[in-house]
Amino acid sequence: MSPVDPRAAVHDPAGPAETAACPGCGAVLAVVPGLPLRHPGASAGCAALFAVTVRGLRDESAQDPRAAALLQLATAAYDAQHLVPGEQAGAPVRLRLVLEHGRLPAPGEVTDAPAGITPPAHWTTTIADLAADLDVVDLPTLVRSWATAVRADWSPSLDRLRTVAGGTPPPG
Ligand SMILES: [Zn+2]
Repeated sequence: MSPVDPRAAVHDPAGPAETAACPGCGAVLAVVPGLPLRHPGASAGCAALFAVTVRGLRDESAQDPRAAALLQLATAAYDAQHLVPGEQAGAPVRLRLVLEHGRLPAPGEVTDAPAGITPPAHWTTTIADLAADLDVVDLPTLVRSWATAVRADWSPSLDRLRTVAGGTPPPG
């Protein structure tokens, strides 16, 4: 048994010895020297795994509206797990709009985050779980269930953000 998660083989089939937890989603992935930091709030390995996983969607999105929609949903889910400092509410609100309304926010629709929004302490599903299941489950199904899980993980905070965008104002 290798101490390294087999999912890390996506990055380095030779089996690197060192792993690191992603600061965003917590996925433990192999540390691959020289990987660029592609996404604020994400480890280089996690962002690279996401890029590899959605590469096919990215390639097809120009010609295929379904691939483009799926890529938009995957990107929204990923962003909601890997927050950009200073833009805390934007990503989860965007995910909710894409997931529930199939659209991105209109310009200015996502405004300042109310103070005190707390990211989930635990994620049900990460891009590493998704990548591990790709052999047995098709990508559209995986992306939708991942996005739904991220949305659910965020729901205690998102319910307080109903007035920000795309939701019903609270009574009173
Ligand atoms: Zn991550």
